[in-house]
Amino acid sequence: MEVEVGALLTPKGVFENARLRLRGEGSLYAETALVPGFSDAHAHPQVVDYGGGRWGNAYEWMAGRKLRVDEAALRADMELSSRLAAAALLRELLDGVTMVAMVGRGEANFAAYRRLPVKPRVALLPTILESSRGWLNAWDAIDLLITLSSLDGAVPVGLFVHSLGHVSRESLRAAYEASKTLEVPFALHLSEGVDELPQLVEALGLREGEDSGVIAVHCISGSGYKRYGIRVVHCPLSNLTLYGRTLSDVSEVDALGSDWPLLLGSALAAYRAAVEVHGVERAPLLLERATVGGYRLYGLEWRGDAAFFDEPLERVAEGSALPRFVAVRGELAVAEGELVGLGKTRADVEREIRELIKLAEERYPAS
Ligand SMILES: [Zn+2]
Repeated sequence: MEVEVGALLTPKGVFENARLRLRGEGSLYAETALVPGFSDAHAHPQVVDYGGGRWGNAYEWMAGRKLRVDEAALRADMELSSRLAAAALLRELLDGVTMVAMVGRGEANFAAYRRLPVKPRVALLPTILESSRGWLNAWDAIDLLITLSSLDGAVPVGLFVHSLGHVSRESLRAAYEASKTLEVPFALHLSEGVDELPQLVEALGLREGEDSGVIAVHCISGSGYKRYGIRVVHCPLSNLTLYGRTLSDVSEVDALGSDWPLLLGSALAAYRAAVEVHGVERAPLLLERATVGGYRLYGLEWRGDAAFFDEPLERVAEGSALPRFVAVRGELAVAEGELVGLGKTRADVEREIRELIKLAEERYPAS
């Protein structure tokens, strides 16, 4: 399939009147194309409720939040957890998100990926959390990581430590060491309202000027992450929702995350929010981080991934345009705004998400 593009934005720059080739027959014209599409560097596809309220930091939120849904019981339901993850992936795909890094219930996320005929590329990072029931410790997570990578070598896996305050030092170090040995991504929530950089540096023995390889999500407090080679994932929507503020130094940002794709929307919604918060003059930098940024963090190939728009580059750069076609691995996954092979539209997927959240609330009410 021949694709003619008015303005093509790639990690190598903008090309006018460019041509692309996809698998399949026919031809199409797009005014603007992003190669790759948007990337979501941090998503919890089982979060259906955050408990409301405004908080000073993540620890206050975790301790004080009043959830309507019993999270542990929901995560234990593999079928529903996997349907939630599948719905989140489809919402992302329709928004032109061609890569998603998912934390949460690893097996359910893997099952969601496997069951979908069309999907973004994914990275799977099972969550390590020891302070509440229903989660994994570092050793269980490492076991799961090895199982998942042997089931399907094509799906990259990594480790996600919930946060410094919710795992033991021993587990934190074990997970970090394992990620180095296995050469897989290592990520965690960091500095979500309190500066935790000094604590992380001390716990992992990080040295200034060396590449730690750590992927840190949020970092709305503190500064100097770059000095330790820490990659920062910016989640403007959940930060604004929980704390009414977000990080201010855009130059620290390496990628964007939706955080709660079922509640707040896809990585495109996160990008739109970032442009609103940081100003349209930062859009060129933010768009680079919001597209190839996530691929770089998780070491994923981006060739063949694209989002095609019927609107000019300026509108796409504002985050206000929706793609009409989306390709993953050189093949169309969305055509004319519909999911290929599933025939579902954005309205269908939105309805499905509302129904699944309602089901989770009814089946697993918090006691
Ligand atoms: Zn998160």
